[in-house]
This record gives sequence, structure tokens and C-alpha cells, in this order.
Amino acid sequence: MSVNDSITYLKGVGTVKAEVLSKELGIHSVSDLIYYFPFRYVDRSKFYKINEIRPTKTDLQILGKITHIKTVEFKRGQRLEATFQDETGSIKLVWFKSINWFKKHLKLHTLYVIYGRVQQFMNEYSVVHPEIDLWSEFQQRQSIGLQPVYSSTELLQKKSITNRFMRQIIHNALNKYLHLYEEILPASIIRDYRLTDRKTALMQVHFPKNQEALSHALHRLKFEELFFIQLQLLQLNLLHKKKIRGYTFSRIGELFHQFYEQHLPFTLTGAQKKVIKEIRKDLGSGAQMNRLLQGDVGSGKTIVALFAALIALDNGYQTAFMAPTEILARQHAQSIAKFLKDMPVKTSLLTGSTSTRERKIIHEELESGDLQILIGTHALIEDKVKFHNLGLVIIDEQHRFGVAQRAKMWKKNTRPPHILVMTATPIPRTLAMTLYGDLDVSVIDELPPGRKPIKTIWRNERNRNEVFSFIRQQLDQKRQAYIVFPLIEESEVLDYENLMDGYERVKRFFGSSYSTGLVHGKMKPAEKDEEMRKFVRRETQILVATTVIEVGVDVPNANIMLIESAEKFGLSQLHQLRGRVGRGAAQSYCILLSGNKVSENAKIRLQTMTQTNDGFKIAETDLKLRGPGNMMGTQQSGVLNFKVADIIKDNRILLMARQAAKNIIYQDPDLTLPENINLKKVLADIQKKQGFWGYIS
Ligand code: ADP
Ligand code: MG
Repeated sequence: MSVNDSITYLKGVGTVKAEVLSKELGIHSVSDLIYYFPFRYVDRSKFYKINEIRPTKTDLQILGKITHIKTVEFKRGQRLEATFQDETGSIKLVWFKSINWFKKHLKLHTLYVIYGRVQQFMNEYSVVHPEIDLWSEFQQRQSIGLQPVYSSTELLQKKSITNRFMRQIIHNALNKYLHLYEEILPASIIRDYRLTDRKTALMQVHFPKNQEALSHALHRLKFEELFFIQLQLLQLNLLHKKKIRGYTFSRIGELFHQFYEQHLPFTLTGAQKKVIKEIRKDLGSGAQMNRLLQGDVGSGKTIVALFAALIALDNGYQTAFMAPTEILARQHAQSIAKFLKDMPVKTSLLTGSTSTRERKIIHEELESGDLQILIGTHALIEDKVKFHNLGLVIIDEQHRFGVAQRAKMWKKNTRPPHILVMTATPIPRTLAMTLYGDLDVSVIDELPPGRKPIKTIWRNERNRNEVFSFIRQQLDQKRQAYIVFPLIEESEVLDYENLMDGYERVKRFFGSSYSTGLVHGKMKPAEKDEEMRKFVRRETQILVATTVIEVGVDVPNANIMLIESAEKFGLSQLHQLRGRVGRGAAQSYCILLSGNKVSENAKIRLQTMTQTNDGFKIAETDLKLRGPGNMMGTQQSGVLNFKVADIIKDNRILLMARQAAKNIIYQDPDLTLPENINLKKVLADIQKKQGFWGYIS
């Protein structure tokens, strides 16, 4: 007998039902069933007298006896009707299905508890298909107060897998198998965090004695779930540091110092210095660096990446710097070339549109080692691109690259190069902990000095004229403006028409004095680039665009970001778009223009935008609104399919569980101490089931 027994071993579960349960709910074994927790509970402690009842939307519970039963024929079939009585009156119970079974089994003049929705039909109260239990059995069951409700599907209902059925088989399973559930958390943790033991928790989560017992059970099970995830992530992280040897960049040499002392055009912020130190330490540690750098748009991540590249160079290694789009790659190449213009460092740009001739030169210089920093797009991943000695890979906006693509960069040298991934889409700390447990995370939480906070304003479509006039005033002061349209699916015809209409409207309004450019995803890369360049050179003053300009574009003179149909954008996308302005000395504005129909959710998004410029706060709100399952990059990993825990609501438990896991893993990294043997077994089981999802980069 084992908890991995098939559920067909349980009374009442035949092969048909077992198949449905496995298909619909993924329940195959007894253990799956016992770990299928209720999603809510109903209070079954209150009984109603028949003369108290009124038709309601909630289910009522009544104690009484059946005095008559009869079958009623009607056109399309039959129904069974019973008169149900207590000392205050009577109501009717009705069945359309399983008539024969009920006719045979229902006992007259015996106390029953019925539970269901009371309806009024021809001046008479009735309950159709009530839940019905003998009072004597009802009293014996564990949960007289709170009764579990399991989530169900249409197919389950059709196959008579009702809530009642679920309760029964889970009850059977617990009776038969609960004694096999030994404690898996170490005694010290149970004690220190005052957790309920495992058996009690499993029993109480299904059939709670009372509210308090239920809370304790839930707390324990959430803790357990989060604890094992954290334990696994922390162990992976340690393993990574120990096993994956990296190149040791022990020297902070000439190029680094020369640049820092003579060519750095500004003073680094405290946050930038801190992160550079963290990177230096990683690079010198002997283990492969695997670091995530988070920093809001404009926080100055590029220069930090450049310092990392200089450390690689000082130690004789090359750097690959990858960006998700051509525009962005070109911009990185330009700004890095500008930073390094008086330095003896050779850099090049490689993208899809690099000519064959240039490409050939790049390949040669790369293999000879003359070319030290190669910047580019996905083109860098191609097998033809071979390095003399690649030591560092920097990836901007990492969520835009697939895991497989990133993995390819690992193979471009005999040992894996160090990896620095950067993102301006901050991942809330809670999520980062869970999701990136094996990555080290650095944060730039400070903007360069002198930036004026962007003013964000939310206006209705009706105020368009006023808004356009305001933009004109700004243009009159030699500023530039972006006007962005939603084009979620670049193929959506309607969105496309809106964009073109909008473009025409802008030209009509501003046409006599200013010129307007247009960029969207359907244009060829060369055309897009040409339009962008015109805007950079100020040949156009207004740029109408879709979200293709979302990432990284840097035109400091542009100080207006007008977002059309702003209610259609996600919060992090709005924030990214806003980050395109606020880069120069002038006051910048982000104007959110919305239609009349704005959902509650969209209202919160737009209000949040007007209230804060802080990317981390925005990410937290975004996470709350959308739920963790929809956050960038989480879908594929499946990390967030929790059974009981909710990493937003249960943040406090998460922190406790993480601390507990840390205490154990730092003392006993391989889990070889006798008291931790159990943990090791559980982890092995989890990994067998889930696969190796802890790996992000
Ligand atoms: P992001 O983090 O969005 O990639 P960038 O690296 O593009 O930000 O930096 C934004 C702008 O700020 C660039 O023009 C950059 O040169 C400038 N910058 C970066 N760090 C500083 C600093 N410490 N002081 C002043 N300007 C800075
Ligand atoms: Mg950037």
C-alpha cells in the first residue's frame, strides 16, 4: 500500500470515473487526490426551520423527515417528489435523475439533513436535487461546520462526479492512507515556526473542525509548498556556483582604469557603483556569473555593462552584447562607440542587415581576437559567429530572448562565458525570488541626477483638441513628440486602420508647421530605421508609432509621449513607453488618452501611471492586477502553478519559508545530515515530477 496507488483502489472510484478525474483534474494517484484541496468552504453549521425559509440565492440546510414519496409522470418523462417535513411546515423535494435509486433507498419517517437552493413553484417551496444525508451519518462526519467545496468542471458534473462524491472519496482516501503521510519538514522547523503536523493539516484542510483549525492547516501547507520551492532554488544556486566553473577575471586593469579616470563623461550614481562592484566580485570568483540586472528605464544600465566588458578585456576576453531589435542594437553600438572613442578598443555591430562584405570582416576579426566587443541582434547567436575567446555575454531585455537562444551563447567557448542579463521590466522582488532563485539579482534603484520626473496626465478623448494644442506649444519650443497607437497584434486590420486614421489626423492638425513620421511593425527594417533616423536628426518633429518604439529608443529632445487608447495597454507597457521621454533637460509629459469605455482594471492602470514613476511599484501593481501566471516569462517555466500558496497574498509565509530553507541549505548544502535525509528524498521526487525548471538563463 502506498500513496502512489491508483485512485481506482478507492471505494467508489471505477475506471470510468478514474479516467475522467485524471483527464480533467490531473488526479491519478491517491496522493494527487489528497493534495487536491478545496477551493472554498461552506458553512453547514446553521439549520433553518421550514417556516423561516424564503427563496434565496444561497443554499439552505434543513433537518426533517420524509412523509410521502411519489413518482409523477409528465410529457417527457418522470420525476420523483417527496414531502419533507419538520415541526413548522413542509416543502417538496424533487428528483429528475436516478429516480429508481432514490425510490429504493430513501427512508420514510427518518431524520435527514437536506441542503440546497430553495425555489418557489406554484405557491410551494421546493428543492431540486438536494444534497441529502441521514442525520445519523451526518453527525458522524468530521465537518459539521465547514464543508469543503472542490472546483468542478462541466464534464465532471456530467459524469456524476459531484462535490459530494469528491468529499466521499477524499474521506475514504484519508481514512485508508493518512497514516502513511509521515512528517517531511524537520522537527526544528515545525517547532520554530509553530506549524501543524502534516497529518493533521491534510485532514483539517479537507474536513476542518472549525475556522481556526482550517487556518492552521492552510498555513502549514502553504509553508510546506513554498519551503520546498525555495529549498530547491537555493540548492540549484549553490550547485551552480560550485559546479559551473567560469573564467576568472582577476585583473582590474588598464582599460578599466583609463576609462574610469579619463573618459567617463559623468559621475556614476551610487547604485551603478554598487552593481559594478557586485559584477567585479562575480567575475573574479572562479564560478560562472549568472546575474540579472534590473533597473528602470533610463537608470543607466548600459554603462554598467560596458564596465563589465572592460574587465573582460583587461583579462584578455571578448564580449558579446545582444539586443532584441535592430534599432536597439544600433543604438547600443553607437553609444558604446561614443563612450570608447578615445580608447584602444575595437567594437562592431552585427545585425541581420549587415552586408556580406562587412560580415566577412567581422568574422575574421572576431576569430583573430582583434574585435573585442561585438554588439548585435539574434545574428550573434548563429553558428557562423565564432569568437577567439568569448568571456562575457551581455543580454539586454532578456525576456525577449528564448531560453534556447540564450543557451546557445553558452557554447561559444570551451567554458561557458559569464552572463549578464539586463531588464527594464522590473520583476517584483517576491516574484524574482521564486522565479530567478538561481540567478543573482542586482538592482539599480536610483536615476542619474538632474532628471526631472515625468508628469503623467490622463485625459479623455473629448479633450483631444486641448491636448493637441498643448503639444503644439511644446513643439514651438523646439521639442519633439511621440504619438503611440495600440497595435497589439500587428496583423489586426482594425488597429491598423486606427493607426492610419490617427496619422492622418495628426498631419491635418500639425501639418502646416511640423512634419510627422510614421513607424509600425509592417514596415521593412530599413524603412523603420530611416524614419527613426529622421526623428533623431529632428527632420521630423512628431513620430506616430506603434509599440515598436517601446524598447530602448533614446531621443533626449523628445519630451512628449502621447498614448492613444491608453486603456488598451498593459501597465508595464505603458511604463516602458513613458520611459522614452524624460531623458533631456526639459520637463517631459506623458499623456494618456482614453475613450469613454474604461474597465475597472484599466482605470487602476491609468491611475497608477498618474500616481507613480517608480517601475517597481508599477510592477507590483501589475502583478496584482494580472496575477503571476501572466507575468512576462513565467508561462513557459510553470514555476508559478502553486497548489495552495499565492505568492502575493502569502508573501509573509514566503519570506519565512525562504529563511527556513536558507538556514538548512547553508548549513548542509548537500542535505547529507541525518535530519535532512528526508528533505533530500522529497526534493528528488519533486524534481522528477517537474523537471528542471529552475534554470532561467
Ligand atoms: P537604461 O538603463 O534605460 O538602459 P541607459 O543606459 O540608456 O539607461 O542610460 C540612459 C541615459 O543616461 C544615457 O544617455 C546615459 O548616458 C545616461 N547616464 C547613465 N548613467 C549616468 C550617470 N551616472 N549620470 C548621468 N547620466 C547618466
Ligand atoms: Mg537600455
